[in-house]
Amino acid sequence: HADIAMYRAKKLGRNNTQFYEPAMNEEARERLRIESALRNALERQEFVLHYQPQVDLQSGRIVGMEALLRWQHPELGMVAPNRFIGLAEETGLIVEIGAWVLRTACAQARSWMDNGHGMLRIAVNLSPRQFSEPQLLSSIAEVLQETGLPPACLDIELTEGLFMHDVAQAVELLHKLKALGLALSIDDFGTGYSSFSYLRHFPIDVLKIDRSFVSDISEDDEAAIVVSIIALAHNLKLRVIAEGVETESQVDYLRRHGCDEMQGYYFSRPLPAAEFEQLLRQGRDLQTVAA
Ligand code: C2E
Ligand code: MG
Ligand code: MG
Ligand code: MG
Repeated sequence: HADIAMYRAKKLGRNNTQFYEPAMNEEARERLRIESALRNALERQEFVLHYQPQVDLQSGRIVGMEALLRWQHPELGMVAPNRFIGLAEETGLIVEIGAWVLRTACAQARSWMDNGHGMLRIAVNLSPRQFSEPQLLSSIAEVLQETGLPPACLDIELTEGLFMHDVAQAVELLHKLKALGLALSIDDFGTGYSSFSYLRHFPIDVLKIDRSFVSDISEDDEAAIVVSIIALAHNLKLRVIAEGVETESQVDYLRRHGCDEMQGYYFSRPLPAAEFEQLLRQGRDLQTVAA
């Protein structure tokens, strides 16, 4: 209780004390309920990963997938991450949940590669809390070793918010992560703390264009931000992936402007593992979708 009260108090500021207290008790109870449900969820194995293909715009083929967390709640059904990641983050449970995500995703990628589906990259989202966890480096190294996934096949997705605080420390950790042999992506690029200076100093491999910019691509308009991000990425020798691609005209536009990869409902929604493997087995590609 004390922790949550402190958190709320800090967030709202001292002057609001007299107004928030009654509501806070209600909210604190609600948060505790979700927290204990989240804690149980790990033990009861209620978390599942869905996988969304990442498609090379030149070859049209699936080259990787992003692991996306879902909570299969016994009463609420399939709960989307936006409804619980924030709380998992605040309570610190994200560290344990994130470790499960990483292990499960890497084991799954390794197993698809063992089943003859070729080299595949697996992208895993990392929350800020995990990033400040002292065990992060050793736990990633351990998962890579235990699953036998080639490090180059792991892509860690970070958000710009991570770079706001202790820049020197962040740079050091990113270099240690890179030394494991994995790839680093900036997720939702352009929506956060977008200082270009970090791009020069940080060992990043991929920019993921946020879907809000991709949705600006329409039939006749120039999507200036998308084009600029592609140019920026390529000038810095980074790969660029467009997120939230929903239409064929967006695919054409991105290809014409040299974007490397796409991810979005146009090709496929995030899928349970068995259905994702179906796509791999069918050899689904961008030509198949357009046909
Ligand atoms: P994200 O990492 O930016 O993931 C992309 C989100 O966009 C996913 O939502 C995906 O389902 C959705 N999406 C993909 N293609 C399209 C499209 O064409 N149109 C639209 N409208 N949406 C599309 P999802 O799965 O609900 O995840 C939301 C966010 O939750 C993720 O955003 C990520 O920030 C977070 N998240 C998901 N899984 C994890 C995880 O394992 N750990 C952490 N820390 N965060 C996660
Ligand atoms: Mg992501
Ligand atoms: Mg994103
Ligand atoms: Mg997002």
